Amino acid sequence: MNYYNINYKDEIVSFKEATLRGLGKEKGLFVPEYIPSLPSSFFEEITQKSNIEIAIEALYPYVTDSFTREELQKTLEEVFVFDTPVRELLSNTSVLELFRGPTMAFKDVGARFMARCLGKFSDKNNPTTVVVATSGDTGSAVANGFYKVEGVRVVILFPKGKVSPFQEYQMTSLGANIQAVEVDGTFDDCQALVKQALADTSLKKERVLSSANSINVARFLPQMLYYFFAYKQVKNLLEGKDWVVAVPSGNFGNLTAGLYAYKMGLPVSKFVAANNANDTFAIYLQTGNYHAKPSVATLSNAMDVGDPSNFVRIQELFGHNLEAIRKMISSAVISDQETLDEITYIHNTLDYTLDPHSAVGHLALQKSLLPIQYGTVLSTASPKKFDEVIRRVIPSFPIPKVDLSACHKESIENSYTAYKEILLR
Ligand SMILES: *Cc1c(COP(=O)(O)O)cnc(C)c1O
Repeated sequence: MNYYNINYKDEIVSFKEATLRGLGKEKGLFVPEYIPSLPSSFFEEITQKSNIEIAIEALYPYVTDSFTREELQKTLEEVFVFDTPVRELLSNTSVLELFRGPTMAFKDVGARFMARCLGKFSDKNNPTTVVVATSGDTGSAVANGFYKVEGVRVVILFPKGKVSPFQEYQMTSLGANIQAVEVDGTFDDCQALVKQALADTSLKKERVLSSANSINVARFLPQMLYYFFAYKQVKNLLEGKDWVVAVPSGNFGNLTAGLYAYKMGLPVSKFVAANNANDTFAIYLQTGNYHAKPSVATLSNAMDVGDPSNFVRIQELFGHNLEAIRKMISSAVISDQETLDEITYIHNTLDYTLDPHSAVGHLALQKSLLPIQYGTVLSTASPKKFDEVIRRVIPSFPIPKVDLSACHKESIENSYTAYKEILLR
């Protein structure tokens, strides 16, 4: 399988090249040249297959140039060290719990898979430096996923005082090849420093640089597997109804991966793009016009994105046909107050605690479902990660114990010179 650059269609590269490069010329994202389809027997027999069998069958066509089936199996076994159970909520809804991984957020799978790919592809004598800016969730998943992967060094920037103690603990407690740096500034400042590093030609002569967000094919593709794992578990709950999947979305990497699964044959009838006040995509569906805007801060902060980077992949997948996109994806925009009300409602009626992102997803699903449909939400994080928000409506929700005393971080001003000095060490 080859990959082409959306902005520069003559640029065609292997999976390995696409992973190492992240972005192509003219900052174009890479996408697969075609979408392989799975036979209908795959879906008929899916309940008898193990998750690893499903994962190999679905993912192998995308990575044939870099992995044998046996190598892929070994890698996936290292990546999926946790379950992704479905839990039924209302009579017509369920959640797929994607937060059983080491950092309790769905990004663990993509980060762990990408780390193993970079470890395999990079030159051990000339290690790759992965640069990443985070508001919390990405940094912890990347730190954990890349920990002790040979040939890769990770430098994470996070805004001082703006991540939760738990998230800070996850980023700063590992050490080894993981370095966490707090910046006296905002998340946007951190992101600007990372972008400056990635564009710094003098730095790139000294260091092989890569970034670890969902623009990278190795991070976003394995997320398609969630949708197959979900179908395997809900197939017998559908009882003739059409299946709808709601996805709490920020950069739309997760939803795009779901659309790939659909194009491969997954029997899903509709996706719901669940958003907080960052409604760029919802407005696009309504009006047909895409206008990026600055992000606004919400309680579901991992989805505070005003210009989702995977939007172009969605357009490409549907041949830039707005009607085709509308037929397959609807959207719902959920406010912070509605998010808190949904957490309260589900807690009070079912004794189940949704994190703010999953609450946005579940309410978006409820608002969208027709009587002939059954819906599943991708639950993207554990409530334990967002305990401060949860305690606003469930005061007894426990405060996680974290001991930051043995953790290691560096602190810098919002200064590119200081950051570059760390990268050159
Ligand atoms: C990253 C993240 C999202 C958004 O995922 P995208 O792929 O960027 O759309 C949603 N919820 C949580 C908890 C996240 O960490």
